[in-house]
Amino acid sequence: GHPVYRDMPTTIFEHMSARARETGAINLGQGFPEGPGPREVLQAAADALLTRSSQYPPMPGLIELRTAIADHYARHQQLDLNPQEVIVTSGATEAIAASLLALVKPGDEVLMLAPLYDAYLPLVERAGGMAKVVRLTPPDWRVTRDALEAAIGPRTRILLMNNPVNPAGIVLRDEELALLAELCVAHDLIAICDEVWEQTVYDGVPHRPLIGFPGMRGRTVKIGSAGKIFSVTGWKVGWMCAAPPIATLLARAHQFLTFTTPPNLQWAVAQGLGWPDDWLNDQRAAYQASRDRLTAGLEKAGYVVQPSAATWFLSIDLPASGIALDDVSFCNRIIDEAGVAAIPISAFYPQDPVTHLVRLCFAKTDAMLDQAIDRLAAFR
Ligand code: GLN
Repeated sequence: GHPVYRDMPTTIFEHMSARARETGAINLGQGFPEGPGPREVLQAAADALLTRSSQYPPMPGLIELRTAIADHYARHQQLDLNPQEVIVTSGATEAIAASLLALVKPGDEVLMLAPLYDAYLPLVERAGGMAKVVRLTPPDWRVTRDALEAAIGPRTRILLMNNPVNPAGIVLRDEELALLAELCVAHDLIAICDEVWEQTVYDGVPHRPLIGFPGMRGRTVKIGSAGKIFSVTGWKVGWMCAAPPIATLLARAHQFLTFTTPPNLQWAVAQGLGWPDDWLNDQRAAYQASRDRLTAGLEKAGYVVQPSAATWFLSIDLPASGIALDDVSFCNRIIDEAGVAAIPISAFYPQDPVTHLVRLCFAKTDAMLDQAIDRLAAFR
């Protein structure tokens, strides 16, 4: 087998969900919401399945969806994307893979920030890239000029980043994004920006896309996810947006990965993105309330929680909570002894991991959160 895959374990998300299925544990590990998703978007998919074609849609996606995505970003993020600059993929993970396959040449260095999503490094390496990882330090996870400049060299071609950041639950500050944009321009880097958490930012904070920063419009791939926006993670409808010369390369990679994505799901997402945006505010408020409920419950039970500003995740700080276990040991203990599945933050580091934080997903029903809190309180 290829060296990238030979020694690779199953992804932590599948591993923990499989263990939760086996043991019946409450699954606060893999990030997916408990609810069914908005009724109207499910109905639109069902209707489209019965009334519209089930044959191959156009390779870059249904034009209705590409237009709806461009319109959504014009309304929410003041972007001026042309529908031709949007390519629909089978989930954001395909968009990340297609972007790397299209843009990384063997030997190119790819700059990433750790904690980093677990798919990034294997995909970078399989595309022939060399990882350059800048490690952010909790609890403030600051991005600094010194660390970035030390990591960027003459062979650095790509920045691959996630904002808001899974698992840290942070939103990069405007000055950090401006710094990243400045360095991309100065060193002629292409930014692959995984912004799947753009609609799960709380406390009234806006999402600032890197593609909107000076000099970035022609050198950024902006990646998004209907699974996250509509709370339907299994649909695997994602997209990537970039200016024409890059978009052409992205489409060539996409056409030989999945070629297309189920047309009824594309149609339903296009309908949903066209709705008045009130429901998104309601959904965001509901996730924020769930975040607050889990935070308050855990704190009452004696856990120290790292504040979460975005995503579906918060973290507990083990040593600060008086727990003398590392993250992997704690996760293994609580799945068996408390009946709660979680994700160790060390899974987001290729080397030199942070080992004192454990990620919990709060996109769950109140009843599930309360039961998980009771179980974690009893475990202490
Ligand atoms: N993004 C999800 C998470 O962080 C995992 C998705 C997956 O398992 N492929 O939990």
